[in-house]
Amino acid sequence: TAASGGGLVAYADSAAESAPEPSQDAPKKKVLVLGTGWAGTSFLKNLDCSRYEVKVISPRNYFAFTPLLPSVTCGTVEPRSIIEPIRRMFEKKSKDVTFCEAECFKIDASKKTVHCRSAVGTNLDGNGDFMLDYDYLVVALGANVNTFNTPGVLEHCHFLKEVEDAQKIRRSVIDCFEKASLPNISEEEKRKALHFVVIGGGPTGVEFAAELHDFLVEDLVKLYPAIQELVKITIIQSGEHILNMFDERIAAFAEEKFQRDGIEVATGFRVVRVSDDLISMKSKSVGEDVSVPYGMAVWSAGIGTRPVIMDFMQQIGQTNRRALATNEWLRVRECEGVYAIGDCATVSQRKIMDDISMVFKMADKDNSGTLTLKEINDVLEDICIRYPQVELYMKSMHMLDIADLIKGAIGDSHKESMVVDIEEFKKALSHVDSQVKSAPATAQVAAQQGYYLAECFNKMEKCKEHPEGPLRMTGESGRHFFRPFRYKHLGQFAPLGGEQAAAELPGDWVSMGHSTQWLWYSVYASKQVSWRTRMLVVSDWTRRFIFGRDSSR
Ligand code: FAD
Ligand code: MG
Ligand code: MG
Ligand code: MG
Ligand code: MG
Repeated sequence: TAASGGGLVAYADSAAESAPEPSQDAPKKKVLVLGTGWAGTSFLKNLDCSRYEVKVISPRNYFAFTPLLPSVTCGTVEPRSIIEPIRRMFEKKSKDVTFCEAECFKIDASKKTVHCRSAVGTNLDGNGDFMLDYDYLVVALGANVNTFNTPGVLEHCHFLKEVEDAQKIRRSVIDCFEKASLPNISEEEKRKALHFVVIGGGPTGVEFAAELHDFLVEDLVKLYPAIQELVKITIIQSGEHILNMFDERIAAFAEEKFQRDGIEVATGFRVVRVSDDLISMKSKSVGEDVSVPYGMAVWSAGIGTRPVIMDFMQQIGQTNRRALATNEWLRVRECEGVYAIGDCATVSQRKIMDDISMVFKMADKDNSGTLTLKEINDVLEDICIRYPQVELYMKSMHMLDIADLIKGAIGDSHKESMVVDIEEFKKALSHVDSQVKSAPATAQVAAQQGYYLAECFNKMEKCKEHPEGPLRMTGESGRHFFRPFRYKHLGQFAPLGGEQAAAELPGDWVSMGHSTQWLWYSVYASKQVSWRTRMLVVSDWTRRFIFGRDSSR
């Protein structure tokens, strides 16, 4: 993996090892996109579709705005308000983009084909299977729920992943209330029917619990006054705190609020079995089994791998992984022409220690066998583009510049006259790779990856000669190249019910309370994919403010 043109990066492992022909008459290359979620639609929106022949496969002919799914579970927002038809989304590109409502069940990378099954029934042959070939494949299939093979979960728990799931939950909540209102059941049975259990204290579980609590205190207490006392909501979390991917202040705020609201948060418990009327869990500290009766349970404890991805990973030798590994340009490792974005993929960041001798040689412009501070500083920006962990490490150690990092390794010395040899250079950077982080499975990451990959596809011709990597250090400025993908975290919300929310914003900013909920409303309204859905969502919110939620099943 020597660098072309003296660049710093392992260019052979690039995104564009085969760019399309520049010639006008050559047939257009075929791009096949699997999935129309956050990653897939973001890719398609930003792709210059006239350059390619684009086909899109998904078993659902709509895009779902998943962050509002918890609001659908209690009727705060109607399901139709958060979905946008795919054909409508790409109406203007319909000349270049074809959509098939089908499920992909096998990817065959050696033949560059994909096997699909129609989602709408059978064709003339009596089965709906067909095959498509591609030049470039964009895998954006998202993730599955993960039950961790816990017995009974598939049969008895609700999930909250798709629009249909949210609709089912909504019906089931009302069912529980109607059941508890029947004349011939005991109080014990009523309590059981009205015990709502959420398994998993991540953002989805927490938001659902908060929605349910609001539904209860704002609407249902008036409609079911006889049984309101018997309702209970429990969140079961295996870790020590809920919302543990957020700042500690947010977790503490949420736990406190839930305590005031009467939502029970059971931390340190792992669910081991679910039967039709009992949830059994084990306390992590005591190791004792506890079983609780419940009326309805929602499982949101983690994400898993779709079977088609699992099968594909097996083919290409990526075993024992949850997600497809790609390089920093989002190309699937060891797989020509295949890219993966969103929840089904993770970027495996190259370690700087694997390339340390090459980096040293690149920086050592005068071939002296040692590096001066100036030599290091000249390539520092390129190093940080290729190995973002260097910057993260310096930040985490509160170091102002690279001189601090090196001083730490070779002992005190004057900044100006600092000179390091390869061993000292290695020592200075030896802990840096500990800062390699994988991006979370969020819509934000998926959308940024889709956008980035589309940019790469749009620039593929221009970058043909110099696929990617910073070439500035070789003095060849102005050349086109692809920078590796880098996730930019724009913050994260946690709606907590009662018109309160918590938010983590860039720059270590935390904001909590009522004003944050208003920020949430405005951000989520602005993020809607069309003016149509924006209007629907805002009018749902308004309707709820005025009339409350609809409690019919
Ligand atoms: P998805 O959006 O899941 O899209 C996958 C696509 O592939 C779908 O179109 C699906 O129909 C299609 N597909 C599935 N199987 C096949 C097949 N066999 N063949 C063809 N197509 C197939 N993230 C945030 O950043 N902020 C939030 O507030 C937030 N809230 C969330 C709330 C909930 C309830 C949930 C479930 C998720 C939330 N997320 C949030 C996470 C976010 O939804 C995901 O990270 C995001 O959807 C990932 O995008 P994706 O394109 O990889 O997958
Ligand atoms: Mg997608
Ligand atoms: Mg989606
Ligand atoms: Mg991912
Ligand atoms: Mg030198």
